[in-house]
Amino acid sequence: MNRNVLIAGGGIAGMAAGFAAARAGWCATVLERAVEFSEVGAGVQLGPNVTRILSAWGLGDALAQVAAFPSGLHARSMTTGEVLATLPVKDAATIYGAPYVTIHRADLHGLLLQAAEREGVQVHSDALVQRVNQMPDAVSLEVMQHGQLQQHHAAMAVTADGVWSPLRQQLLGDGLASFTGHIAYRALVAQADLPKHLRSQDVSVWMGVQAHVVSYPVRAGKYLNVVCLAEGRLLDDDANNLQALQTWNAQKSEAQTLAELHHALRGACQPLTDLMSACSDWRLWPLCGRPAMQGAHQHAQGRVALVGDAAHPMLPYLAQGAGMAIEDAYELAAQLLGATPAHVPERLQQFAHARWQRNARVQARAVRNGQIFHAKGPMRMGRDMSLRLMGPRLMDVPWLYGYR
Ligand SMILES: Cc1cc2nc3c(=O)[nH]c(=O)nc-3n(C[C@H](O)[C@H](O)[C@H](O)COP(=O)(O)OP(=O)(O)OC[C@H]3O[C@@H](n4cnc5c(N)ncnc54)[C@H](O)[C@@H]3O)c2cc1C
Repeated sequence: MNRNVLIAGGGIAGMAAGFAAARAGWCATVLERAVEFSEVGAGVQLGPNVTRILSAWGLGDALAQVAAFPSGLHARSMTTGEVLATLPVKDAATIYGAPYVTIHRADLHGLLLQAAEREGVQVHSDALVQRVNQMPDAVSLEVMQHGQLQQHHAAMAVTADGVWSPLRQQLLGDGLASFTGHIAYRALVAQADLPKHLRSQDVSVWMGVQAHVVSYPVRAGKYLNVVCLAEGRLLDDDANNLQALQTWNAQKSEAQTLAELHHALRGACQPLTDLMSACSDWRLWPLCGRPAMQGAHQHAQGRVALVGDAAHPMLPYLAQGAGMAIEDAYELAAQLLGATPAHVPERLQQFAHARWQRNARVQARAVRNGQIFHAKGPMRMGRDMSLRLMGPRLMDVPWLYGYR
């Protein structure tokens, strides 16, 4: 068997895994169910733990073309607009050796796709992976490709098929992901279309009760990405339609979306209300997740490794879901470097041991951040006081950003 790897799913995790495996000398094939890759998704923030990897992969210049480089991350009160504390993320390059950037998901995906293709990765679209079969010395994937069932064989496979991963369900038997009780609404607005006082090249987190809004620049600073994250129940129709809504571009009727946003932002200060009113064409995601993995035995099984949201879907409150997918890919490639097909099960176990606890820690911290962002009553007062007194020290996350 040759050194070849099949990757199910061509999102950020799958593209990063394909690219990294090819750099490690493996022949990689990405199988993506979508017929074509389109400009979908929200912005993502990438901490220095992630941009360090992109630079090590030689993608620093390409990143600089499309990303924005905010100077501060401001924690603000949704009701008064007060800046409670600022983390000077422009210092990340000095402190952590790599910048803190914000980028449109489609730009990050495009950058990884181009890099993967340059590295010789085969990318097949309209390829729905239905099942993985493991033999002692190989794997095979059953793939519905352009309407025909095909078998692909390789020395190993990577499951990168997102939060609803059918392959994870087959391998771990832990059922479907579930609704977290949080919904994300996202809009993209050209900075040039905003009044001057609403334009921004920084990250702002406006914290309210059971909701917060995050805004930051993308597309080299030309657009502002605005996301409202709110706790709420799904309407019956939505609950039945959960998986359909979990696409990168789901929409409801404008009236319904605006009513839900209005409810989430009750009592918001004027600048935030103005910003939200300046946005249109809202897209949404009911955020779905799973408990963290219980051990390395779940992150890889035999000749199959799980990466990205298929392995560790998380609330976006630490802004690290794509980041952990890229770290997964980096670690996977480190294990594959110099390995032969015979080494695969052992190397994948090492990959799993290196990743599962960190991914679980990031998932847990994201949940905790949500509780802090959405606090009410005395907890909220304590939070605001602590932020005013200790600001940047509370907001910095050295164990996360300093990871090598
Ligand atoms: C509102 C919001 C804000 C976020 N902000 C941040 C942030 O600031 N920073 C950050 O790092 N992360 C952020 N994230 C998280 C990040 O976007 C995700 O963690 C990341 O995109 C997951 O990538 P993935 O490739 O694992 O999954 P996906 O992007 O879901 O990709 C899975 C791919 O697999 C394909 N697929 C599915 N099933 C099959 C199949 N059977 N066969 C073949 N292909 C299949 C899908 O079509 C898709 O292309 C945010 C997420 C949300 C919702």
